[in-house]
Amino acid sequence: SEKLANAKEAGKPTFSFEFFPPKTAQGVQNLYDRMDRMHSFGPSFIDVTWGAGGHLSDLTCEMVKVAQTTYGLETCMHLTCTDMGKAKIDQALKDAYNAGCTNILALRGDPPREKEKWQATAGGFRYAKDLVTYIREKYGNHFDIGVAGYSEGCDDQKDADLLIDHLKEKVDAGATFVVTQMFYDVDIFIDWHEKCRAKGINVPIIPGIMPIQTHAAFLRRANWSGCRIPPAWTEALDPIKNDDSAVREVGKGLIAEMCRRLLDAGIIHLHFYTMNLAQASKMVLEELDMIPDLESPLEKPLPWRQSLGLN
Ligand code: FAD
Repeated sequence: SEKLANAKEAGKPTFSFEFFPPKTAQGVQNLYDRMDRMHSFGPSFIDVTWGAGGHLSDLTCEMVKVAQTTYGLETCMHLTCTDMGKAKIDQALKDAYNAGCTNILALRGDPPREKEKWQATAGGFRYAKDLVTYIREKYGNHFDIGVAGYSEGCDDQKDADLLIDHLKEKVDAGATFVVTQMFYDVDIFIDWHEKCRAKGINVPIIPGIMPIQTHAAFLRRANWSGCRIPPAWTEALDPIKNDDSAVREVGKGLIAEMCRRLLDAGIIHLHFYTMNLAQASKMVLEELDMIPDLESPLEKPLPWRQSLGLN
């Protein structure tokens, strides 16, 4: 949140990339290579999501460690209450701490795949706010703690106003920033953002941006998150839906326009759901002219650039 405050002061928007742990060892190596390349786009941090239980959650801790220590990326580790007793939460926080990670996105978590409804684990936590409280108790201000926000309701709660009350509880428990679920309708977001402010949520609110890779993925993800697709988007994308490169090009324009409107409305940071791919996020950032290049170096060089002697 300190970084976000600096970005606001400097009047320069910043951005971050979200990745998820791949299923295979080869996938993990490929992702490290991609993360390293995407580092050069200048994100202020990257997120690694938390998979429910077992191997994938160990992999989250491992990836956070490698990203922080080998690649020098500032990392935000997602952590959920799903299938997590206190001992497991303690271990994950300890791993993050030891890796030098100072950012946690505290979540309730999706239900595990085999279950429809979310259930609390014995000796674990019920809501994300309980996790926020616990991290603050245990680690004081070591971690910047983010929480999830929903401008269009979430799976088990469609009432957006009630969700704002629950969001406020998470912030009151000690969260220092909010990252939202993906959306495509900027008007709904801006309206929701104003309501959050009116309810006294004063921490940075970061919109989650899902770039458009293919038409099928665009529809599937909008459907999965339950977000509204503005009619103009359907009109622009439907006629070209079988032409992947046209979809990417037009999609880039739509997403970039959405980002511009968000920045005009006072948003200072954009969070990209990369889906572990570079191209679509890169196209949007290039369109927004937000990728630093060597001809126009950043005012404050990024530390990794200095260490490579680039600035
Ligand atoms: P909470 O804020 O705890 O809310 C959960 C439910 O409880 C909501 O319906 C809420 O309204 C209700 N509730 C909260 N407080 C109260 C109260 N006091 N009284 C009654 N009801 C209450 N999932 C993963 O598994 N791994 C990830 O890495 C991950 N990353 C995410 C990143 C972002 C940016 C977002 C937006 C979501 C992410 N998710 C992830 C999904 C998230 O875990 C689910 O959406 C989950 O269903 C809700 O999590 P939450 O943290 O918002 O929960």
